[in-house]
Amino acid sequence: MATEETAEESAVQVHKEGKSRAARPRGHVKVFGTWCKGCGICVEFCPQGVLTMDSQGRPVVAFPEKCTACHWCDTHCPDLAIIVRRLEPEEVKELTELAELAGQGAAPAVQPGPVHSQEGGER
Ligand code: SF4
Ligand code: SF4
Repeated sequence: MATEETAEESAVQVHKEGKSRAARPRGHVKVFGTWCKGCGICVEFCPQGVLTMDSQGRPVVAFPEKCTACHWCDTHCPDLAIIVRRLEPEEVKELTELAELAGQGAAPAVQPGPVHSQEGGER
């Protein structure tokens, strides 16, 4: 009996987590490579672990799907070399559908635009 209750509670929790995951904000992160000095602050302090350092000592958006558009990175970057745009609900829905298709081997996983740029002028 106790096991059944636990399973039911677990199912409710999964449902709640699914809802909150679906409703959470999501961001698109872009790093401007020519402005970035590779200090690593964004990589170190991103609360979601979205960024990693590449072999050249520059941040890479390794896990874009984890970004919650909290804007910690773009408000603390000393060189204004990283920018985050909060995605519209339609964009999140489209990316989620594409990710599901990619998971089924039906389509490549995609990003909404480039995630790493060597350009310095365009923002
Ligand atoms: S905080 Fe800015 S300058 Fe430092 S690594 Fe990140 S993008 Fe580059
Ligand atoms: S906006 Fe927040 S979650 Fe997204 S990469 Fe920047 S620090 Fe990480």
